[in-house]
Amino acid sequence: MPQYAYFKGEFIPLADAKLGVMTHALHYGTACFEGIRGNWNAAKKQMFIFRPSEHYQRLLNSCKVLKIELPYTVEKLVEITVELARRCEFKEDIYIRPLAYKSAEALGVRLHGLEADFLAFVIPWGPYLDVDKARCAIASWRRPDDNTIPPQAKLTGLYINNALAKTEAIEHGYDEAIMLTAQGYVSEGSGENIFIITNGKLVTPSVASSILVGITRDTVIKLAKEELGLETEEKHISRNELYTARECFLTGTAAHITPVAEIDGRKIADGEIGEVTARLQKLYFEIIKGNVVKHRDWCVPVYPEAG
Ligand code: PMP
Repeated sequence: MPQYAYFKGEFIPLADAKLGVMTHALHYGTACFEGIRGNWNAAKKQMFIFRPSEHYQRLLNSCKVLKIELPYTVEKLVEITVELARRCEFKEDIYIRPLAYKSAEALGVRLHGLEADFLAFVIPWGPYLDVDKARCAIASWRRPDDNTIPPQAKLTGLYINNALAKTEAIEHGYDEAIMLTAQGYVSEGSGENIFIITNGKLVTPSVASSILVGITRDTVIKLAKEELGLETEEKHISRNELYTARECFLTGTAAHITPVAEIDGRKIADGEIGEVTARLQKLYFEIIKGNVVKHRDWCVPVYPEAG
């Protein structure tokens, strides 16, 4: 399959997209990124990119934090992405990785006075956590708070924190890490937001809990309300509430909606997939494949639509 990158303002073969060793972003983590999914619908022979505008709005917000000014609007970035995906011709689920980075070949810790650029590429990518239900562990690594490195911005340098937590969890035999805030409240997974069902309510850590405000999180909040009549409470969640929840699941572009069966060797309820989780999962998978007319505005088709 031909693979392309959008690199320095052009579509070129992925293998030719190369950066110099002095690139600032490589040394100091001065880049921000997105992860966007294209979901293949075999029956419709169509690829649907899920909520790309929201991803690019978040990218531009991250750029603001890093003092990167891209010469593109959200609309233009979506157009580039659709064109890139079309050129790659994949007929399976894909993952799109846009990156805005300090491209200056210059040393010195700073954000100001550095050239920046945008690139994107596409890879075929199936399930991320690749388990029906995840076994999780609370990480020994805390999520940085807003005045350390703002977790609401998707900054490459920040992801060292996530990588420390993820590898610790995997090396201890778990599928995913759950990080706490500096104050000890539940924050999020290494690449996912977290939800619990407790006392009949859907609850998720608020923006004040050092989270990346996920687009899947937003999708779940909207679906729970519209389709299940369930309001989501956004608040601080304690570790105890997590252990004793009726249901728990993770949400993310890569991980979709992944049920959590166990945390720190404690089963969540009976350790099986909860009822609300299962209903949300079913709805979500239909929607991202472009099968739900009501939510087709979230799905941008890649290939020309028949008729
Ligand atoms: N938190 C973190 C730390 C993430 O990396 C991600 C993945 N982007 C998420 C949450 C989920 O965000 P989204 O649903 O927008 O993919």
